[in-house]
Amino acid sequence: MASTVVAAVMPAPHQPVELREFAEPSLPPGGLLLETSFSEVCGTDVHLLHGRLAGVPYPIIPGHVSVGRVSRMRGEARTLDGRLLREGDRVAFFDVHRTCGRCHACAVTRTPTRCHARRVYGITDSAADGLFGGWSETIYLEPGVLTAVVPEPVGDEDYIGGGCGLITSVHVMDRAEIRLGDTVLVQGTGAVGLSAIALAKLSGAGMVIAIGAPADRLRLAREMGADTTLPLDMPAGERLERVRELTGGHGADVGIEVAGSARAVEEGLNLVRDGGRYVIAGHYTNAGPSTINAHEQINRKHLEIRGCWGSEPTHFVRALQILAQHAARIPWRAIGAKVYALDELNEALADAEAMRLPKALVAPQRRRDRL
Ligand SMILES: [Zn+2]
Ligand SMILES: [Zn+2]
Repeated sequence: MASTVVAAVMPAPHQPVELREFAEPSLPPGGLLLETSFSEVCGTDVHLLHGRLAGVPYPIIPGHVSVGRVSRMRGEARTLDGRLLREGDRVAFFDVHRTCGRCHACAVTRTPTRCHARRVYGITDSAADGLFGGWSETIYLEPGVLTAVVPEPVGDEDYIGGGCGLITSVHVMDRAEIRLGDTVLVQGTGAVGLSAIALAKLSGAGMVIAIGAPADRLRLAREMGADTTLPLDMPAGERLERVRELTGGHGADVGIEVAGSARAVEEGLNLVRDGGRYVIAGHYTNAGPSTINAHEQINRKHLEIRGCWGSEPTHFVRALQILAQHAARIPWRAIGAKVYALDELNEALADAEAMRLPKALVAPQRRRDRL
């Protein structure tokens, strides 16, 4: 009776993604299976392909943020808000699981995104352990994975268009502490940057200035709410002048780095005003050292610098609430520019890496070889 599931597997760094068959797992009490509607190809997946993240248990089924319908379950499973799940429910889940609650990071410093026991679907779960990734016809949600029924006004395309970039950006906003009327600088117009632009406006920013590339991405940045966009091919000196002009000579109140470039940090510290705040969230992998002058760029400026790592359940739940309230007006779904079938993911990774589109979506029920 056991049926099979097809998933796209990344066997090892620098090796092409390939389709593999898995047996549909038997479920423990509280476990469930999702028929995947959409997953995504994010910057992390490109890093995974190049082996840039430590401790990844290849082979893996990538796709850490996904949405689907409950296709099978055993016993009772409840959502984060206590609702009993049923077969057919449209469900999103928090990709981080097994956060222990007992370690120093969890219990003492209350920084659970630094828990060493935590695992992330599609990144630190091995395909040898099962269907722990969204590039698969079916995703296994083990007991304890945090879930939410996707609220009715939020389409699958809205949720996955926002995807991990939106969830990450909700955390970035907590760290950025934007005040009403602030001028916010966003460096980077990838999926995180585009969401950060929209959320900065929702947080009350008076003006959002975005730096990025290519040109069509800057157009989308303006659609997401950026008041001014500055291209990457403009000399940095000119960008500094423009930001000064726009801010009465002071610089931005808050800077948000989501570019993943060591050069962006060097520049960003100059674009933020004295006494301002700078949040670094783009260096998810090691982009190498930035050369900064601590006297000129931090100490004398009385600058505050914060990092932002991963996300917590609150960011996942609030991302859904934000989509329910604003997705009709803010074009999150436009970020997911193109949908790829399960056997087109090497192409999708190449397109993502070449920045040919803001984000590639994965529709695991589709297979080109079947068409
Ligand atoms: Zn822990
Ligand atoms: Zn991601």
